[in-house]
Amino acid sequence: MRIIDVHTHPIFFRKGATPKEVAALVAQSRALGIRHMVSLGDVLVHGTHPTAAQVTAMNDMNAKLQAWHPDFFSSFCFLNPVLGERAVMKEVERCVTRYGFKGIKLEISNNARDACMKPVMAAARRFGLVVLQHSWSMVNLKLRRFHSDPIDTAQLARRHPDVKIIMAHLTGIGFRGVLEAKGCDNLFVDTSGGYPEEGLVEYAAEQLGADHVLYGSDLPIRENSVTIGRILGARISAADKRLMLHDNTARLLNLN
Ligand SMILES: [Zn+2]
Repeated sequence: MRIIDVHTHPIFFRKGATPKEVAALVAQSRALGIRHMVSLGDVLVHGTHPTAAQVTAMNDMNAKLQAWHPDFFSSFCFLNPVLGERAVMKEVERCVTRYGFKGIKLEISNNARDACMKPVMAAARRFGLVVLQHSWSMVNLKLRRFHSDPIDTAQLARRHPDVKIIMAHLTGIGFRGVLEAKGCDNLFVDTSGGYPEEGLVEYAAEQLGADHVLYGSDLPIRENSVTIGRILGARISAADKRLMLHDNTARLLNLN
C-alpha cells in the first residue's frame, strides 16, 4: 500500500525539530507505507495571530524539513491573512520561488468568509497552489469569528471555483460538513481530525465521490496507524481506498 499523508505537523509546539527526530519520523512513516507527507507547519506555536516575522520563521522551518528529506516532504505555506495583501503576496512568492511550496495552509487567524481571504485566493490562483483551510463544526458563534465552520469553507470554494480547496478534518466537520461540501468540484475533504467514527468515510465517499476524499492524519495529534485504519477499515472498495490514501493527493499536488 502506497500512502500520501496530506495533513501533518511533523514539528508541533517546537517538538520533533531535530534532524534525528525527523529522520526517525520518516523511517516510522515509511514502515507504515507512507511514501510522502505534506507538512503544514507548526501552526499554533505563536498563537492564533502570528506576526509576519513569525510566519516567515514557521515557513523556513518547513523548508528545512524539505531540504533534509526532499523526496519525503512537501510543504504548504502558512499564512495569517489578517496581515493583509502585501504581507500575504510577499510570503507566498518567497515560499514558491525559493522553496517550491505546493499549497497554502490557513488555520484560525480569521474566518474563511472574511474579506482578507481575497488576496490569499489571488496568490493561490497566481501560483497554482492548493488551499487547505482548517475547518470544524462551529456551534459557538463567538469562536466562529476566526474559526471556520464547514459552511464557511464551502462558501470560500464556491466563490473561487478556479482554486482547489481542501476542507480539513472529516471527523470535525462531520456528516453536516460533508453535505456542505457536496456538489462543489473544486472542494476536497481530508480525513484528519478526531478518532475514526463509524460510517463517516463511507458517507463522504458516497456523497462527494471517493475522488474528493484525501487521507490526512493531523500527526502528531493523531497516530498514523489509527488514521490509516480509518480508511482501510471502511466499507468501500479497494480502488476507492487507493484513491483516498494515495492517488487523489498525488494528482492534486503533481507528486509523480
Ligand atoms: Zn492540523
